[in-house]
Amino acid sequence: MAWDFSTEPEFQEKLDWIQQFCEERVGPLHHVFPHAVRLPDPAVRAYVRDLQQDVKDQGLWALFLDEELGGPGFGQLKLALVNEILGRYPAAPQLFGAAAPDTGNMEILAAYGTDEQKKRWLEPLLNQEMFSAYSMTEPQGGSDPRLFETVAVRDGDEWVINGEKWFTSAGRVADLLFVMCTNGIFIVPRTTEGVEIMPEPRNHNHIIYRDVRIPADHLLGPEDGAHVLAQRRLGGGRIHHAMRTIAQCTMAFDMMCERALSRRSHGAIIAEHQMVQEKIAESYAKLRMLRLLVLETAWKIDQTSAQDCRTDIAVVKFTMSRVLREISFDSLQIHGSLGTTDLTPLQDMYAAAPTMGLADGADEVHKVTVARRVLRNYEPHEGNFPREFLPYKKEEAWKKMEPIFEANPELAEAAERWKAYREKRR
Ligand SMILES: Cc1cc2nc3c(=O)[nH]c(=O)nc-3n(C[C@H](O)[C@H](O)[C@H](O)COP(=O)(O)OP(=O)(O)OC[C@H]3O[C@@H](n4cnc5c(N)ncnc54)[C@H](O)[C@@H]3O)c2cc1C
Repeated sequence: MAWDFSTEPEFQEKLDWIQQFCEERVGPLHHVFPHAVRLPDPAVRAYVRDLQQDVKDQGLWALFLDEELGGPGFGQLKLALVNEILGRYPAAPQLFGAAAPDTGNMEILAAYGTDEQKKRWLEPLLNQEMFSAYSMTEPQGGSDPRLFETVAVRDGDEWVINGEKWFTSAGRVADLLFVMCTNGIFIVPRTTEGVEIMPEPRNHNHIIYRDVRIPADHLLGPEDGAHVLAQRRLGGGRIHHAMRTIAQCTMAFDMMCERALSRRSHGAIIAEHQMVQEKIAESYAKLRMLRLLVLETAWKIDQTSAQDCRTDIAVVKFTMSRVLREISFDSLQIHGSLGTTDLTPLQDMYAAAPTMGLADGADEVHKVTVARRVLRNYEPHEGNFPREFLPYKKEEAWKKMEPIFEANPELAEAAERWKAYREKRR
């Protein structure tokens, strides 16, 4: 009976190490040096490198990569357990070499890159000597890739890219832009002539690619393989976000409970008011459901593949943003005026909910995917009434039981008596 929710003791030791490391080293780093990994200051860089070495010594670097792609090969379930710790500490993904958008880019580079491409780009990305961004969404259409227009045209030994991209996260500070064209994914060094980054938005960049020339070997994977590579990239990303979202929801929930036990109003601590208790109970249930859903999906991916789990991943995708929105909102409400300030992480968490509902695809699109895929397992019923129509069920039941009644007249008589009795009661 393989139905086991326990964690192996050896792996639990790793999780305990991560928990302690994050609490004692990673958390404080974020508050003193936000974005430490990107800071040019040599003293900060050296300190960050020391911390990262500790992570490497534990065999915990770049955990998202499978063994065959050069990572530790933890698989998604173990990664989920790790990420539900890391997700509480903004600096943690980068200190563990597992931060988006680099992770997704590294994953497709590891899976589809040539040896030469891996040497040139994967190694420096893994070592954080380079950073990357993913340039897919376009100003005229995000949810529907059929509206994308950016294209690369072959010219001798080069590709020439023309197009416009929108919301390329961290594009401005990336060394490499993974550009999704209608005819493939191309790796474009940011400083290539013709790459023009608009002043706004600041963090998620609007980029014009105007006659951008790159060598022929900057095509990643097959020509016309953009869709396949993008699916692979985004499938992993969505579940990793969800794992970290569990951590955010847990934090909002912990804060809710602590506050509810700490304040008084109308003659009682607020945890004693039923409407507060309802928020706590509902939030607890939502958190548990989200966690189980994400862990089960991670487990399923390990048994099959992300491609086989597209429905589950899409469910996870839209559920995480809803649960984050609801729990962070209730926690904020229980914190009263304090919750509305930027003196706690709650405002950021609540603001992150709509972000989670759009990044990696609008939730609505994922709901459409789920409904379509789920409906494939069903057929319409014949006639005017559903198969569960009770008069049909009764008729079928009597037919099915006929041979039993023939063999057992006493049971048949009892059935007739019951039938008569029930009809009389109508
Ligand atoms: C924080 C963040 C980071 C991001 N990072 C990146 C990045 O690094 N690289 C990148 O390329 N992109 C990135 N994106 C963009 C993201 O991929 C898009 O926002 C997403 O695909 C939706 O596209 P859109 O914003 O153009 O919305 P639109 O396509 O304009 O959709 C707007 C709304 O229309 C409705 N809608 C659309 N289609 C349907 C449908 N089929 N059924 C029902 N309703 C529908 C939904 O309400 C949807 O929210 C990021 C987005 C966010 C928020």
